[in-house]
Amino acid sequence: MNKAKHKGILLVISGFSGAGKGTLVKKLISEYDNYALSISMTTRNPRVGEEHGREYFFATKEEFEHKITEDGFIEHACYCGNYYGTPKDYVESMLAAGKDVILEIEIQGAMKVKEQYPQALLLFVVPPSAEELKRRLIGRGTETEEVIDARLKRAYEESQGIEQYDYLVINDDLDRCVNELHNIVLSEHNRPDRNEAFIEKIREELKSFSFEK
Ligand code: 5GP
Repeated sequence: MNKAKHKGILLVISGFSGAGKGTLVKKLISEYDNYALSISMTTRNPRVGEEHGREYFFATKEEFEHKITEDGFIEHACYCGNYYGTPKDYVESMLAAGKDVILEIEIQGAMKVKEQYPQALLLFVVPPSAEELKRRLIGRGTETEEVIDARLKRAYEESQGIEQYDYLVINDDLDRCVNELHNIVLSEHNRPDRNEAFIEKIREELKSFSFEK
């Protein structure tokens, strides 16, 4: 059996651009204190209102590639022409501290994480319909028409990989969805393969009763 190395769960949240993952994750973190959010590094330009070290660590291609050579990422991927990667140190230290660490990353990265951390929990967030996705992307007003088109095409490609995830979460209503996500995580904590030390302990205790007169 695959022993749980950490107390915290490594939580991978993916979903089409515009599915509302960012808002979901922000609310999840503000409502519950068991989560820690990993901040990725990217070579894309900051959007209006984004801050270095809050949404992302913004870096040049050279800086990003240097970190790759230092083995500084758990995973990295190219998405619509830019690099995105998950810095290793923060994730490892938060998992060791027992936090449920959230990676909000796209599908290629999610698959690489699963290879390295087989106990990672993979969640895929979708909007209720494709039409709603387009409406949200346009409504966000942060991207050009060209970028929106590229992201909708990419969404179709990503939809081919949904079955590789552990859970599908339909983001129709924010509060309901946050609740659902949190309940999934709570249930996961109760899986036997995440509680082997406890199981062994109670088994040992029961054994002593079995051999008592
Ligand atoms: P955006 O440019 O909209 O912020 O992000 C584009 C996509 O990259 C989203 O699907 C987002 O989840 C993903 N992403 C963000 N950070 C990372 C990362 O560190 N690794 C990978 N593989 N994808 C990421």
